[in-house]
Amino acid sequence: MAEARLAMVRTVVDEVLWTNRYLGKTALDPRVIEALGSVPRERFVPPEWADSAYDNRPLPIGHGQTISQPYIVAVMTDLLHLEPGDRVLEVGTGCGYQAAILARLAAQVCSIETVPELASEAAERLKSLGIANVEVRHGDGYLGWPEGAPFDAIVVTAAAPSLPRALVDQLKPDGRMVIPIGPRGSDQELVLVCKEKDGSLDRRSVLPVAFVPMVPGG
Ligand code: SAH
Repeated sequence: MAEARLAMVRTVVDEVLWTNRYLGKTALDPRVIEALGSVPRERFVPPEWADSAYDNRPLPIGHGQTISQPYIVAVMTDLLHLEPGDRVLEVGTGCGYQAAILARLAAQVCSIETVPELASEAAERLKSLGIANVEVRHGDGYLGWPEGAPFDAIVVTAAAPSLPRALVDQLKPDGRMVIPIGPRGSDQELVLVCKEKDGSLDRRSVLPVAFVPMVPGG
C-alpha cells in the first residue's frame, strides 16, 4: 500500500500544478503533502473498496456519504494554514480521513458528524490508529461546537447554502474557514473565509466543487 499511497501523492501534486490558476500556487505546503503520504487511507474505506483506496476520487462509505477525493482533502487542508498549536473544528467527520490529516498538522481536532453510526465508527477507527488528538461527536454541525470555541480554523466537508452564522461566530480573529457553498448537487464553490482582527470577513472563492449537502438538524 505504501507504493500506492506514494502514487496518490504524486497524482495530487500534479493536479495542484494543473489547477494552479485556481489555487494561486503551484505547490501545497510540504507538511500537507507529508500528512497525505502518512495516513493509511485504506483503513478509512469499506473493505470492498480497499483496492481503490488510493485512487484520486471520492468513494462511498455507506449511509449515502463519501470519503472526499484526496486532492480536495489536500487543498482544503492547505487553505487552513495550520500551525502546530492550532485547534480545528471539522464539520462532517464521515469516515474520519480528513480529521486524521488535520490531526498531524494541528494540536487538537474537534469533529462533528450528523450520522450517529459514522461518528462512532470514525471515533473507533481513529482510536485504533493511535490518533489521540481528535474528538468526534454526533450532532448538528450547523451549530458548531460552542464549548470548544473559538477555533483557529474550521473546515466544513459538506455543502451549505450559505455561510452558517454559528460557525463564523466560533472562528477566532485571524482564523480561517474553508467551506463548500452552493445548492445541492451543482454550482458549488469552495470558499475561503478569513476573519480579520476587527471581526470583519474576507471571502474568496477558490474552486468549483461537488460535495454532499449539509443536512440541517443533525
Ligand atoms: N470529512 C470526510 C468527508 C465526509 S462527507 C472525509 O474525510 O472524507 C460529509 C459528511 O458530512 C457526511 O458524513 C455527512 O453525514 C456529514 N454531514 C452532513 N450534514 C451535516 C451536519 N449538519 N452536521 C454534521 N455533519 C454533517
